Amino acid sequence: MNSAAIFVIQQPMILRDREEIMLQCNKNTYNHGDISGTNFAMESAYVLNQLIISAIVVTCFICTKTIVDSLRRRNARLTLVIIGAGPIGLTSMLVAARCGRVSRIVLYEELSKLTLFNKPHQIALDVKSVHFLKRLGVDFDNIEGCWDSGCFYTRLGVFQEYMLTTVPKLGAAVDLRLGTKFTRDSLRDLEKIDGRKLVLACDGSSGQAARLLGLSDEFAQHSCRAYGAVAALDRPDECQIPMPERLMHNLHFDLTAYGAETSEVDGYQGFSFKVFGTSRHRFMSLSIPKCESPQVKSLRTVLDRSMMRNIFLKCFNTYKADSEPRLSDPIAVKHMKFSPRLFEVKLSQRLETSAYFQDSNMFVLAEGEAARCYNIHTGMDVNVGIKGLMGLSSFISLACVVDSEHAILQALLQKNKDADRICRDFIKAGLVEYHMLKTCL
Ligand SMILES: Cc1cc2nc3c(=O)[nH]c(=O)nc-3n(C[C@H](O)[C@H](O)[C@H](O)COP(=O)(O)OP(=O)(O)OC[C@H]3O[C@@H](n4cnc5c(N)ncnc54)[C@H](O)[C@@H]3O)c2cc1C
Repeated sequence: MNSAAIFVIQQPMILRDREEIMLQCNKNTYNHGDISGTNFAMESAYVLNQLIISAIVVTCFICTKTIVDSLRRRNARLTLVIIGAGPIGLTSMLVAARCGRVSRIVLYEELSKLTLFNKPHQIALDVKSVHFLKRLGVDFDNIEGCWDSGCFYTRLGVFQEYMLTTVPKLGAAVDLRLGTKFTRDSLRDLEKIDGRKLVLACDGSSGQAARLLGLSDEFAQHSCRAYGAVAALDRPDECQIPMPERLMHNLHFDLTAYGAETSEVDGYQGFSFKVFGTSRHRFMSLSIPKCESPQVKSLRTVLDRSMMRNIFLKCFNTYKADSEPRLSDPIAVKHMKFSPRLFEVKLSQRLETSAYFQDSNMFVLAEGEAARCYNIHTGMDVNVGIKGLMGLSSFISLACVVDSEHAILQALLQKNKDADRICRDFIKAGLVEYHMLKTCL
C-alpha cells in the first residue's frame, strides 16, 4: 500500500496547527519507515489544509463585503440641488422626494413665490406626462385646469403653486430658497455641502447655471425639416382661463393678392395651424414640412407683414373656439405680435448635459429648456423637458452609489444617451407628436 494513503486528512484536521500535523506525520513515518513518501504526504496535507483555510477566509470576506456593500448601497443618499423652480425644476423636486435616495433638497429660484404663482401662460401636459405625474402622486383633481383627449391644460403659476405646496409635505428635507438667484458665489455654498451632491440646472433656455457649474456652453442646432411661424395675442380684457388647443391641418392660402404665385398646390402638403394658450394669452403656430411649394417660397421670401398678419387673423377667426370673441383688424394690429416670414424650425441641443466633478464629489445635469429647446412654440413644449425626467429617479439611485471611475462614466454615458434620444425623437417626430404637423416628410 502506498504510504501516502494513510494520511487521510479529515475536516477536524483544519483546526490543528502545523506542529501537530508534523508530529502525526513523524509518528506514521516512524511506524512505516518510508521517509520520502511521508514527507510528500505531510506537505500535501499542509497545502490542502492551507487551501481550505484560504477558501474559508475568502468566502467569509466576500460574504461580509457583499453584506456591507448592499447595506451601504441601501443607505446611500445624496444632496440634490435644483436651480430653477420652473415646471422642470419642480417636477425634479417631486421625483427626488419620491425616490427615497435624497437626504436633502435645496431649491434656488430667483423669482419670489408671488411672481411664480402668478405666471400667466399655459402649459399643456400630454398623455405620457400626465401618466408620469400621476405615478408620482400628482392629484390632478386638485389642480385648476381643463382636460381634452387625455391632455391636461393649466396655468404655469397654478402648477408651480401646487408643486411648491405639496412636495415639501412629502417628508423629504426641502430647503426652498425662493427669491435667491444662483450665482458664482453660490458655488461656495455647494462646496460646503458634505458628501455626494447632484446639481440640476433647470433654469430655462436663457439660464447660466449650467455654464457656472462647469458644463460646456456649446449647442448644436438641428433642423426639424419643417418651416414655421408664430403669433402671440394679448387680450387684456379676457381672463387667464386654460383652454384646450385647436388645430387644423392641410391648409392652403391664396396669396395672389400679394403678388405671389400660389395657385399650384397639387402634390404639396398644406399648412398646419394651431391655437393654444389661455383665453387671455392666445398663441398661434403655423407649420409645414420643409418643401419648395410656391406658397412656402412666397412666405419665406416676401417680406410683407400684412400678408402674415392676415393669415393669422383669418385662421384665428375661422378656427377659434365658439365662445371666443372674433379678432378684429385693429386689435390684431395693436395686440398681435407675429413672425413676418416662415422660418426653419430648429432644435437647439446642449452638447454636454451631464458631468461629474471628483474634487467636489458632484454630479451636474442640465434638464428642461436648459438642455434643449426649439425656436417655435408647439403649445406642448413642457413635455420634452418632462421626458428628460423619466429616467431621473434611476439616475439618482445610481449616482448615490457609483464610486469607481468606470461606473461613474457608465452612469454619465447612459444619461447622455437618454438626452440624445430625446432630441433625436423630437427631430424625427416631435412636431407630429405635438400636433404641429400631420405627417413627417
Ligand atoms: C409665453 C410662453 C408661452 C408658453 N406656452 C406654452 C404652452 O401653451 N404649453 C406648453 O406646454 N408650454 C408653453 N410654454 C413653454 C413652457 O413654459 C416651457 O417649456 C417650460 O416652462 C420650460 O420649463 P423649464 O423649467 O425648463 O424652464 P422655465 O420655465 O424657464 O424655468 C426656469 C426657472 O429658473 C429660474 N432661474 C433662471 N435663472 C436662475 C438662476 N440663476 N437662479 C435661480 N433661478 C433661476 C427662472 O426664474 C425660472 O423660474 C410657453 C412658454 C412661454 C414663454
